[in-house]
Amino acid sequence: IPVQAFDLVIFGGTGDLAQRKILPALYRRHCAGQLPDTARIIGAARAELSRRDYQSLVRAALQAGDISAGKDAAGGQVDSFLARINYLAIDATEAEGWQTLAQTLGRPTADRVRVFYFSVGPALFAPLAEQIWAHDLADDQTRIVVEKPFGHDLASAKALNRTLASHFDESQIYRIDHYLGKETVQNLMAIRFGNMLFEPLWNSQYVDHIQVTVAETVGVEGRASYYDKSGAMRDMVQNHLMQLLCLIAMEPPAKFDPDAVRDEKLKVIRALEPVEPHHIVRGQYALAQEGAGGDEDQSYRETVGDPRSSTESYVALKAHISNWRWAGTPFYLRTGKRLVARSSVINVFFKDAPHSIFGADAGRHANLLTIRLQPDEGITLKVTIKEPGPGGMRLIDVPLDMSFAQALGADIDDAPDAYERLITDVIRGNQTLFMRGDEVEAAWAWTDPIIAGWTSRGDVPKPYDSGSTGPGDADLLMRRDQRDWQGIN
Ligand code: NAD
Repeated sequence: IPVQAFDLVIFGGTGDLAQRKILPALYRRHCAGQLPDTARIIGAARAELSRRDYQSLVRAALQAGDISAGKDAAGGQVDSFLARINYLAIDATEAEGWQTLAQTLGRPTADRVRVFYFSVGPALFAPLAEQIWAHDLADDQTRIVVEKPFGHDLASAKALNRTLASHFDESQIYRIDHYLGKETVQNLMAIRFGNMLFEPLWNSQYVDHIQVTVAETVGVEGRASYYDKSGAMRDMVQNHLMQLLCLIAMEPPAKFDPDAVRDEKLKVIRALEPVEPHHIVRGQYALAQEGAGGDEDQSYRETVGDPRSSTESYVALKAHISNWRWAGTPFYLRTGKRLVARSSVINVFFKDAPHSIFGADAGRHANLLTIRLQPDEGITLKVTIKEPGPGGMRLIDVPLDMSFAQALGADIDDAPDAYERLITDVIRGNQTLFMRGDEVEAAWAWTDPIIAGWTSRGDVPKPYDSGSTGPGDADLLMRRDQRDWQGIN
């Protein structure tokens, strides 16, 4: 179903994110016939480019992502997409260019959605909001999309929320966390609230503990200067991992509507207990040991050019949610760069059966529900059965395994990726998969004391080998609780 007519202005239209994600996402929706003929896309950035130059840049970006090849079998799709695209040189902090943008856009009208996508560094979010307002480019139907990072800590997030709120209503602000646009992440809600099977067991009475792993094989590479001021806690935990935690732990919202869902997520964040210093491990990748398989030639400190950097590229922590449902069930979260595998996975460990009728020989068996977000999206439920054969009542665990790609065949390839879904949601005015201002602030309120504790103690992250599963202390964190990490080992 096509979305309604829109004008989308991408500030930072020449940047990495625009080229790799936003423009390809729009192109795919164009090919799917979802963009109405009158929809216009305007790239805006500092570079002095002509419209034709920008169209060439977009064409090259689509080719570099190998997107045009598969989707343009009939030919002409790229050309018709480029025909929608315009470009204006605008500096967020200068007056020039804004008048031209105002003329290009015209007055906001009720039959055309206007979206401003802030795909620029966070220092420019507030100036952009002010310029849009000063040049009278928005009405109360206009939407703004704000990229991460949303603030650096609670104080800066609050200040940014205040600035945005002085020009836009909360219903007009779309704080993007692309994790929420992933098909499998939404599937978390479908699995939990669409099946009678899981929800009755989804609490501390039946769940022993939950693990969330978001592991990357890449290092900081091109993002070194940004990342070294941020670290894994701010870059990954405060947003992506906390959002996953919320979707796993929240109470069922009364309906799948933006505020109902976000109210429940907020309650989870507010119920998080402060993390004890000995329940958190920071790591920083070093070079791989000789023969350990890692083929990278730079440690974290070499990449960021600071031999004393104490920024973490890895975090593992144990969190507790103080509410009726989850009291006593720990949530272990971990994320890191340059790890052995790229994998985002949630593991829900159910408790052992209260009594084994098969005696001690049968061993201990418990169900494990694994939700794979990437790669090979799917779910696996480990169930206990009798070992086949005449050997008596011996038990073994077998997987009930479903890969979405296999189960759904071609459909999964055609499913929109995260940015496609989120951008069409913005145009449709659906905020369900976007973070509300109070959610972001609550998440910072939980992470700030952790980071402040590291600073005041002069904490130095533990080195770990590139290509490994992370620092040994993260394994100890689990072993102290007689548990093991599952997912990338
Ligand atoms: P980038 O440095 O590649 O691009 C920045 C863009 O902003 C360029 O188009 C540049 O011309 C424009 N710009 C810079 N100063 C400007 C000014 N004064 N006025 C107008 N335009 C200006 O950055 P990026 O990687 O594309 O990231 C953009 C935003 O998206 C950042 O907030 C980043 O944190 C966020 N983000 C990026 C990624 C990613 O994979 N690249 C992922 C998640 C979030």
